[in-house]
This record gives sequence, structure tokens and C-alpha cells, in this order.
Amino acid sequence: MSEKAQTRVITFLGRGCAELHGDEIHLKICPHCSQWNSPAASHTSRCEWCGYEPSLEHAQPASDGS
Ligand SMILES: [Zn+2]
Repeated sequence: MSEKAQTRVITFLGRGCAELHGDEIHLKICPHCSQWNSPAASHTSRCEWCGYEPSLEHAQPASDGS
């Protein structure tokens, strides 16, 4: 079970939602303005509403919440 090629769901300091594909962040929900990003914009890993650019420095795995 290799984890390298898997998609991981992450948050940014507990807010927002994104998928991590290798080194690429696909932003789903912006942690800054809480808007859903459109599929087209999510591939730029940047919020199309407020221009927020997600940083891996703020990324946390979303799986540790309960
Ligand atoms: Zn935003």
C-alpha cells in the first residue's frame, strides 16, 4: 500500500479543505473566505474568490479530526 500517489485530504490550520496530489494542492474550500472553489480554479490551487494561495506550511492532514 503505497501512499505516494494517493490523494490526501488536507486542511489549512483546521480550516478549509483541499486535496493534495503529490506536491499539488487542489483547493476545494477556501480557508480564508469559506467559498467552494470551482473545479477549474481548484487546479490552479488558488481561490478564485479572494485570491488566497494555499501553502503547504499551513497544511494539515484532515484525518486526525473526530
Ligand atoms: Zn477565498
